[in-house]
Amino acid sequence: MGRVLIIGAGGVGTVVAFKVAQNADVFTDIMIASRTKEKCDKVVKAIGNDKIKTAKVDADNVDELVKLFNSFKPDIVINVALPYQDLTIMDACLKSGVNYLDTANYEPRDKAHFEYSWQWAYQDRFKEAGLTAILGCGFDPGVSGIYTAYAAKHHFDKITHLDIVDCNAGNHHKAFATNFNPEINIREITQNGRYYEKGEWITTKPLEIHKDLTYPNIGQRDSYLMFHEELESLVKHYPSIERARFWMTFGQEYLTHLRVIQDIGMARIDEVEYKGIKIVPLQFLKAVLPNPQELGKNYEGETSIGCRIKGFKGGKEHTYYIYNNCHHHTAYLETGMQGVSYTTGVPAMIGALMFLKGEWKRPGVNNVEEFNPDPFMEQLNKQGLPWHEIFDQDLEL
Ligand code: NDP
Repeated sequence: MGRVLIIGAGGVGTVVAFKVAQNADVFTDIMIASRTKEKCDKVVKAIGNDKIKTAKVDADNVDELVKLFNSFKPDIVINVALPYQDLTIMDACLKSGVNYLDTANYEPRDKAHFEYSWQWAYQDRFKEAGLTAILGCGFDPGVSGIYTAYAAKHHFDKITHLDIVDCNAGNHHKAFATNFNPEINIREITQNGRYYEKGEWITTKPLEIHKDLTYPNIGQRDSYLMFHEELESLVKHYPSIERARFWMTFGQEYLTHLRVIQDIGMARIDEVEYKGIKIVPLQFLKAVLPNPQELGKNYEGETSIGCRIKGFKGGKEHTYYIYNNCHHHTAYLETGMQGVSYTTGVPAMIGALMFLKGEWKRPGVNNVEEFNPDPFMEQLNKQGLPWHEIFDQDLEL
């Protein structure tokens, strides 16, 4: 039914490959391409399906991408490389007539800045080419937007308050490690916080605002207000929202390490000269930190990510909490990866499945909440990320 090209063979790419291979009725031809071909071959070996093709590609190079696209002729590309590659991959898609999906918005290398403007600027070109681009189809962004769309469709006439809550209550038994690419993760967490209230964006100092929130099956965890990219698209697509915020849990040990990393200059993203060569301290740090792909084996506990929503239905105010809990060990047993890679990779596969089944086909550049959430929600239950709903309880927020 469809040819899929996965770009990136990291933690998320591995999960996408496993899940795509499990849905062989839809994904009939599969290729994994990344900077290091050996990593793609390793994924194929772990899956045990030698029909999956692999290739080496530098996704910063449009010509190389176009050559690969023209030889494999995918229907859709699942971009799970790094946010730096979003625009080059989108350019190559336009040149080769290929549809596009990613899980993180474009970031310029020299500035940790998160906004959709760079990718939304491709709207007309994708529309004219008759190609669909699906932006931000991991868990958050991704399922967080689909939960919101589902709530708006089935439970509210008008959403007024949205809080996306992301808890990782797992323990990987390392002093310090990030759950996805360390460079991208540390750039994100060390930024100012930002939330939306009554038509304005309010900026806070990094991790300045925090409060205890109670997560299902986990209990209370200190949760920190951060900016997260889906807030930008969700307040645009749901203009009734008066306040939108994003919260993520961090342990004290993690925060202490993070502070030291920053204080000693290792979170810097500018080049410094060391023994005659130029290095970016944060990129060097990535090379010595634990690889998120290797964390799965000893990872205990679970994640809990969801949306806490307030709004009106039939003139009455209601609250709604929709969430998924994912066990790191269950994810590991299925894919060899931990829960954060799993909760990102499964929705990316489902997004591509939606496209190939014709459910989510809309030429132009689309955020996930612009599509019909129902068939996606059905797949979440089937593909390993079941969701749960709580109605009219105190949201704590
Ligand atoms: P990893 O660093 O583990 O993997 C990234 C992969 O991309 C690696 O295989 C890497 O190759 C490859 N890559 C990097 N640069 C290039 C390039 N120029 N050309 C070709 N391949 C390249 O990252 P993760 O798997 O942890 O994360 C992948 C993506 O998922 C990131 O964009 C991240 O932001 C996103 N994400 C989204 C989430 C969500 O919920 N929406 C949550 C978590 C992550 P090599 O190993 O050789 O360097």
